Amino acid sequence: MLMNMKELLKVAYKHNFAVGSFNVANSEFVRVVIEAAEEKNAPAIIQIHPNEIELVGDEFIAYVREKCRNTKVPMAIHLDHGSSVKDVMRAIRNGYTSVMIDASHASFEDNISITKEVVKIAHDVNVSVEAELGTIGSNEGSSEGGADEILYTDPEDAKRFVEETGIDTLAVAIGTSHGQYKHAGKPKLRLDLLEEINHRVGIPLVLHGGSDNKDEEISQTYLHGIAKINLSTDMKSAFFGEMRRFLTEQQEAYEPDVIMPSARKAAQKVVKQKMDLFNSTNKAHLYFS
Ligand SMILES: [Zn+2]
Repeated sequence: MLMNMKELLKVAYKHNFAVGSFNVANSEFVRVVIEAAEEKNAPAIIQIHPNEIELVGDEFIAYVREKCRNTKVPMAIHLDHGSSVKDVMRAIRNGYTSVMIDASHASFEDNISITKEVVKIAHDVNVSVEAELGTIGSNEGSSEGGADEILYTDPEDAKRFVEETGIDTLAVAIGTSHGQYKHAGKPKLRLDLLEEINHRVGIPLVLHGGSDNKDEEISQTYLHGIAKINLSTDMKSAFFGEMRRFLTEQQEAYEPDVIMPSARKAAQKVVKQKMDLFNSTNKAHLYFS
């Protein structure tokens, strides 16, 4: 079942769980996410970054829509880190049900005005909008960008930002970074700050850079307003790690063996663990009652 993200996250926010939002850049990952979601009976989001749409091409979204429409679980297709109105328009034309506009690098006032413009366009055609305030860090191996230094989201700014823009969901900076914390120190999430932001804004919040954080910390976030957790690195590392192992071992491998169930399974294992961790396992029924 394909729906917009506002509807998807409303239920998660109310019932204190977070929906995993997984970056895909080929059909293998679409299968990974959908099969895991159906097995876990969990809602899920497939998200595509502007870099990823360059890899797969616009036509790919017709396939993703068809797959999502045929699932038994609630799904949304979301633009990850759109950086311009052009990115957003392209996503809407392609059939995404949700978009992110990330103007967090701009001044506060500019962020408000760009985001407002996107909200106007998207809401007219029933597409939900995520925006970002504060800056999420960037680690090695991430193509998603982010800042060298994290600027934490200010709760009072968040309140004004949400009120003025009319967004459906807000990505907050509370100490996470994109990518893997290989060399950088693992951050401690500012749960106190999250609690305060949630208290002030009252809309579902989004955690970016959900890979590689401590499980005990992640499992606190959805008790304080996080309704969507973005995940890319952990899932992709599992997939490509297994792919490398398989191809090294099986030098003669060719299709169909090389379209490896083992790599898909390795990634699926991670996705399913995350669904348990985010408390979204067995929550699909909440959307049908
Ligand atoms: Zn992000």
